[in-house]
Amino acid sequence: MLSTYSSLKRRTPLKTKTPLKAKTPLKRKTPLAGKSALKRGKGYAKPSAPSIMQEEKRCYLTGKTENLVKHHIYPGARRKASDEWGCWVWLTAAAHTGAAGVHSSAERMRELQAECYRRFVALYGVDKFVEVFGH
Ligand SMILES: [Zn+2]
Repeated sequence: MLSTYSSLKRRTPLKTKTPLKAKTPLKRKTPLAGKSALKRGKGYAKPSAPSIMQEEKRCYLTGKTENLVKHHIYPGARRKASDEWGCWVWLTAAAHTGAAGVHSSAERMRELQAECYRRFVALYGVDKFVEVFGH
């Protein structure tokens, strides 16, 4: 009896609750749905959607046309979705990551995000925004 007990106990204690697995998921809300064609080359989609913020290729803030880099309005995990949904702008390197650039100013960043949100919602609606960006 006792030995059966202990052998049973032996089996379970392996701590296989896999709490780690739950952490790993890349939080992919599959924004790629239906757009698998984007997956080319290096795995990172090129300017997949035109910016909903501007039409011309010039700095969104200064209007300059040199030294432009693409700034994704929603960075990090939402960067890719930003790219695919046109939530990005052209900025000069200085306006981007310079001392007074958007990446140095949380306020500037928020303003851009707020403006982009307005435009996105006007185009696709709030539900879509939540679907694409999570919040
Ligand atoms: Zn940026």
